[in-house]
Amino acid sequence: SIPVICVDGPTASGKGTLAAVLAEKLGYHFLDSGSLYRITGLAATRAGIPLDIANEAAIVALLNTLPIHFEGSHIWLGNEDVSELIRTEEAGMNASKVSAFPAVRSALIDLQRNFRQLPGLVADGRDMGTVIFPEAALKVYLTASAACRAERRLKQLISKGIPATLDSLRADLEARDARDSSRTVAPLKPAQDALLLDNSELTVDTSVQTVLDWWQS
Ligand code: C5P
Repeated sequence: SIPVICVDGPTASGKGTLAAVLAEKLGYHFLDSGSLYRITGLAATRAGIPLDIANEAAIVALLNTLPIHFEGSHIWLGNEDVSELIRTEEAGMNASKVSAFPAVRSALIDLQRNFRQLPGLVADGRDMGTVIFPEAALKVYLTASAACRAERRLKQLISKGIPATLDSLRADLEARDARDSSRTVAPLKPAQDALLLDNSELTVDTSVQTVLDWWQS
């Protein structure tokens, strides 16, 4: 069967970077599942739909009409490149809100599973190993301390010229993790057979090498 490596973990743990480098090194496809929730939040907000469970059906109806396309590291909504727009902290928080709605999660299952194509897939998210690809050959649960994660996010934003403060970033990511961990469907938690990797003190290269060693062993 087609190999899948799952990389799950909390906000800003470095999953995206690790998963993208692994996919590149192995020549595998890459699924950034968070982008799907981010796009859903963006589209609903633009449509003026409050991100409230009472509007779950309306949000799913809208989601089912969205012309989402992936092209390398770019994500398109129809003919609009939304890759940058969906990266803001606000978009992350909105993604976290819509991702707690069970019907939104169900509506995205097949789309995510369709990324599993030869020669293989690296999937980044919160529930890749627990729900979407439970039979995956390797599941990595990547963590880092909240302080490290906030620090890294601050550097990323500053390098893009986006103003931010460490305290507010840390508060945001802790709020997002609390919501993601406490929801009733697909809560954020390691799969039973996941291998845990805390990269607080590791370079990207070391994290990548650790996972490649697991994969090849
Ligand atoms: O990974 P990223 O920060 O882009 O994800 C944004 C939000 O989408 C997360 O905070 C989480 O609430 C949600 N998400 C999810 N399941 C996934 C990926 C993301 O619930 N597989």
